[in-house]
Amino acid sequence: MDDSDRQADQNALTATLNSFYLYRRAAHHNVTGRRRELYARMSERHRAVLAQTTGFLHNLEQIDVAIDQNSGLLELVAQIGANEFEAPQDRSEWASASTVDMDKAQGTLKQIYRDWSAEGERERATCYGPLLAEIDRLVGDGDRRQVRVLVPGCGLGRLPFELAANGYTAQGNEFSYHMLVASYFFLNHTTLAGQFRVYPFVGSFSHLRTHDDQLAAFAVPDVVPAAVFAGLAADDADPAGLPRFSMTAGAFVDVYSDPAMAWDVVATAFFIDTAPNVLEYIETIRAVLARSSASKRYWVNCGPLLWHFESGHDDQPAGIELPMADLVKVIESYGFVFDKLEHGIQAAYATNPRAQGSWVYNNTLWVARLADK
Ligand code: SAH
Repeated sequence: MDDSDRQADQNALTATLNSFYLYRRAAHHNVTGRRRELYARMSERHRAVLAQTTGFLHNLEQIDVAIDQNSGLLELVAQIGANEFEAPQDRSEWASASTVDMDKAQGTLKQIYRDWSAEGERERATCYGPLLAEIDRLVGDGDRRQVRVLVPGCGLGRLPFELAANGYTAQGNEFSYHMLVASYFFLNHTTLAGQFRVYPFVGSFSHLRTHDDQLAAFAVPDVVPAAVFAGLAADDADPAGLPRFSMTAGAFVDVYSDPAMAWDVVATAFFIDTAPNVLEYIETIRAVLARSSASKRYWVNCGPLLWHFESGHDDQPAGIELPMADLVKVIESYGFVFDKLEHGIQAAYATNPRAQGSWVYNNTLWVARLADK
């Protein structure tokens, strides 16, 4: 990294930390404050109807309490993250959070539900579940510790955590500081199951049957990763001395262009569509698998094709957005053989389980084997 890259990296970190700290003020303003203002401007008659039938203002107070709980957690996550990722002590040097950063802070709360609550298991089972099952099937009764599994774009880290807990040598990779800072916290700094309560859906008033559905609270984490890791530490068996669980920070294609790194399995969940140029992802996945000395090397994937660069937001460059059938042909052209290719695997993503409607993805699950050289 040269100096300007270093500065950009530090700005991304500190803008993220700021977004966690600013969540409290922003959410009180946007979620409850603006509605109180609107209420105050309504006619007395309308206010009376709402007050008598719904307890409107009381509900807003409860939402404020939930926002405070979320804020306490995000501030703690930011505090630990500032320390671990070595943000400048002087917060006046921190970059300001953009509206995108603020949205990501809100999104992080939903990801915490997805990856680290017991109730999130319903979602996890529809995506991580098939991947874990396929890997178990492929490895059979082989020594799992000798099988290295890489999870690019691992979000809050639950999938690589499950892999390590199930006996594999797993590594997650992420480039978003929102995800890196929050996953670091959940993976390393939680000490009790259910230590925190999170209200991930408090910011949304749509698709609710009752007010309580907005206040859905989830105890997190459902497991204490640090306790699981402590049990694994004595059990490392990777020939190159890789720990059973590790994380890397940085863009997937950059981090794994280092020819020293070899992986036996690459597992992608909701990841491939984040690429501006998916061919780069495919080449990188092929390259890390090609370096593996295992007799069979696999790419397992479960996810949609919600091409992230299609929106063209934030002055992003355009991307290459292929339909699934074309993507499969491209992947085959790189020497992969599809042992399994299933469409229509239904999965929700970080959505309120109590909502009256939510988007359901029809995901594609595949097991692609890298053919022998
Ligand atoms: N696998 C997780 C997260 C999926 S969202 C889950 O199923 O919940 C996609 C993730 O990929 C995001 O966390 C995003 O930050 C990350 N990501 C996008 N582009 C990336 C890149 N080039 N390198 C590493 N991570 C990336």
